This record gives sequence, C-alpha cells and structure tokens, in this order.
Amino acid sequence: MRAIQIREYGTKFYLTQTRIPDIGVNEVLVEVKASGLCLTDIHLLEGVQSVDPLPRVPGHENSGVISKVGSQVKGWRVGQRVVLGIDANCGRCEFCQRGQTELCIANQRVGFERDGGHADYVAVPAANLIELPDSISFEDACIIPDAIGCMYHSLVNLAGMRCGQKVAILGAGGLGLHGIQLVKLMGSDVITTSRRQSRLDMAASMGAEVVDTGKENIFDRVTKFTAGHGLDIVADCVGTKQSIKEGLAMLKPGGTFLLLAYIDKELTFDSIPFFSKEKRILGCRGCTRLEIKQVIDLMAEGKLSSIIGARYPIEEFNEAADELRQGHVVGRTVITR
Ligand SMILES: [Zn+2]
Ligand SMILES: [Zn+2]
Repeated sequence: MRAIQIREYGTKFYLTQTRIPDIGVNEVLVEVKASGLCLTDIHLLEGVQSVDPLPRVPGHENSGVISKVGSQVKGWRVGQRVVLGIDANCGRCEFCQRGQTELCIANQRVGFERDGGHADYVAVPAANLIELPDSISFEDACIIPDAIGCMYHSLVNLAGMRCGQKVAILGAGGLGLHGIQLVKLMGSDVITTSRRQSRLDMAASMGAEVVDTGKENIFDRVTKFTAGHGLDIVADCVGTKQSIKEGLAMLKPGGTFLLLAYIDKELTFDSIPFFSKEKRILGCRGCTRLEIKQVIDLMAEGKLSSIIGARYPIEEFNEAADELRQGHVVGRTVITR
C-alpha cells in the first residue's frame, strides 16, 4: 500500500510502498478514503513532539471503510463506513472509567504512538470506530475527530458555552472556522481574527465579527463587541505568547481561556488580574468518541458542515504541507484517495 512516513525529523514526508498492516484480534483494518492534514502533522515532522520509533505514518483525522475484522470483534462488518477516533485507550485507568478518554494514561493515539491514516490502510482497535451515515461524505467526515471534534469538546464541554455569550476565536483557520459555526449554532456572538483576507471573508460569511490583526487593534474591537464587559470565552487557535497574553486580558471576570494550539511553548502573562478575576486557562487536546458521534449527528441534521479549503492526492502530500505552512488554505486540507 501507499503510505506517508516520517523517517527523520526536520526533513520532508516520504511517500513509500509498504505492507498492509496486520490486525490484532480486537482490531479492524480500515481502507482509508480521506484523511485530514493538520498543522500537528507538520509539527511531528519537525520533531516538536516525538513519535518514535521512526518511521511513523502520521494522520489522525481519518474516515474509510472496514476491510477486515479481527476474530474477537463484535458488531462490525466489512464494508461499513466509519470515522476513526484518535485515542486508543486502555479502558482501565481512572480517566477511561470516568469517560475522559482523551486523558487516558496509556493512550496510544492513531497517527502518533500508532501508525495513522495518511496511507491506503490503517489498523485500529474496533473500539475506535464510529459509524458514518451515507449522507456524509468521507472527505467531510475525516476532519471530525480533530478539527471539529476538538472545538466541540472545548467550547461545549470544557468551557460550558451557553447561549447569549460573547466568544472570541483567535485564528480563523482549520479549527477556528468550525468553532465559529458552533458558537453561532449555540446562539452566541463570535468575533474572530486573522491577517488573511480570504479567511476573514469566510468567517464574516458565517456570521462572525472579523478583525484583521495586521491592521486593527484587537482590544478596541473586543471592547466594542462586548460593550466593555469582556469575553466569556476565548478559544486560542494561534498559540503564541502574544495571543495568550491578549486573550487572557480580554476575558471578563470568571471567563475561560481555551488553549487549542501551541507555537510558543513558554507562556507569559500577568498573574494578578488572572488571579483576582478568577479567570481559567484550560488545555484542550482532543475529544471523546461520544463527542465525535454528536458532531456526526449535527452534520447529518445539516446544522454543521466541514469547511474544506484544499484537496490533494496522497502523491502531493509535501505540496499540501507547504501550502498549509504558508497559511494559504481557508479551512481544512484533505488528502484524497
Ligand atoms: Zn490535529
Ligand atoms: Zn485509560
């Protein structure tokens, strides 16, 4: 089969021919029909997080069709359309038992600790499968486990977003544009930022207030947007020292800052207003399989849609990555088959 591999950090992605993976008794083999390209894939190549031992097949946003089922797997059959949860959990730790599967202490993530789906086939535990209705395309579905699911998890379940709130999404990229939809769906008001006109135009068409941070002062706009009261929630999809400092300063007392991206590893902010106004910073990494199912249901009902900005065949994976690095894409990049 064809597969994309990280062979050496700091180089390029390798397209290679390799064996179709074997499956364990509790696993299934999925023929991948589409996989989402995430900035994290590029971070992995750069060695920002280790995915040793190399080579490793990245790809944590996947959809496809079951092509083989392990001998102990119940309830799944060859030919079923599926979306793949990222976290392969132990099922025994405190967090798994509580349903916080994204925090599992022995998590083996698809596309990180396990080989992922930027390939023709991927082997995953049957527990990672979520059924995909015929009404949602593989391309629309593949980005649910991260680009949409992570925003849903963070805004709805971590921050407890309610209707009538004022929310900022910093960075109208692959995650941010889906976050805007969720805020609007909830009946709250959203303001978003970018330095790219194409992204601002897309965000504005979805009902967001937009701020070109290359030209405008974000504080002035947020003051006006919130009538001076501050924001209930800031979802930071940029992850720089500056975005974190600004985002925290714009929160109202008791407001929640969601950290969804990491560019700068060390954060600095003024602790006194953070302390005295009881603001909260929450790290946001993933989502549960239940949340993936809930996003699928919203999409099937036509309430939420995937924003796909570029499609590339697997042979042009490095070109797709370059395009993403340069920030040209409006929405998610999908690798087609
Ligand atoms: Zn990702
Ligand atoms: Zn666990």
